[in-house]
Amino acid sequence: MKPFSYQRAATTSEAAQAVLANDGAKFIAGGTNLLDLMKLEIESPAHLVDITGLGLDEVEDTAEGGLRIGALVRNTALASHPRVMRDYSLLTRALVAGASGQLRNKATTAGNLLQRTRCPYFYDTNQPCNKRTPGSGCSAIEGFSRMLAVVGGSQSCIATHPSDMAVAMRALDATIETVSPNGTTRLIPIEELHAPSGDTPHIETVLERGELITAVILPPPVGGRHVYYKVRDRASYAFALVSVGLILAEDGTGRVALGGVAPRPWRSTQADAALPSGAQATMDLLLADANPTHENAFKIELATRTLTGLLGQAGA
Ligand code: SF4
Repeated sequence: MKPFSYQRAATTSEAAQAVLANDGAKFIAGGTNLLDLMKLEIESPAHLVDITGLGLDEVEDTAEGGLRIGALVRNTALASHPRVMRDYSLLTRALVAGASGQLRNKATTAGNLLQRTRCPYFYDTNQPCNKRTPGSGCSAIEGFSRMLAVVGGSQSCIATHPSDMAVAMRALDATIETVSPNGTTRLIPIEELHAPSGDTPHIETVLERGELITAVILPPPVGGRHVYYKVRDRASYAFALVSVGLILAEDGTGRVALGGVAPRPWRSTQADAALPSGAQATMDLLLADANPTHENAFKIELATRTLTGLLGQAGA
């Protein structure tokens, strides 16, 4: 691991300004992803700004009837929060499908959204990877791509976003609250948080340098039946081949978001509108722009069959 300096921030503005002021600085909280990447020298921040003392660890009701989830709320605490379990159970189900108990005890809400891809070439520093080394090429497109994206990728990168939680957040229409080094705050709809791969897959979010996520806000609950189903190569501690987050009302209307298929949680309102017409009609719209490799084309059928099964179980 390369040497780095460390500071523990006392306020959000101190944290944001410290990252802005130090070239190559990074925020650190749970560290469940960043420390691994630093040990492998895939990331080598010159300065770490520890934000764990900022007190962003409360889950509060909003005036509108929703929830404001502090950026530092640990995944375990969020999954077991009474209001999350009662009103947003898709989120609980997605959280417990991710990682391991030990990791969920450390991992934070914001860190989960910002975790980096598990594309095998991203972790192999002997192989070209545009995300790790911009302009070096993508080893995956002609290589081992079974786990990678079938939709939303580019000629530069077909990495998937690995988060289960983010899929639930996308279906729940979460909004990301941030503060910038100059003190301004902004609200970012989750569908706008993760940047398209395009020619710059190393730029993964729309966050500016030093911009700190302070909370995730959920709108009032939408009711319905909440289901999260994750298809993976082994029963635990594995990333999704395909995951389906489904919110289904009694009349068959609802929302569906996919994980494991794209560089960000994947959902479209047009596909949501097709849910009453069945899984095939929904997936035809949701994956209309799919451009799979020969190794991962099976994900399209797998996603369709998974949704078919879930709708069947729900009696829809
Ligand atoms: Fe790198 Fe993305 Fe290609 Fe994987 S898919 S090798 S992360 S550029």
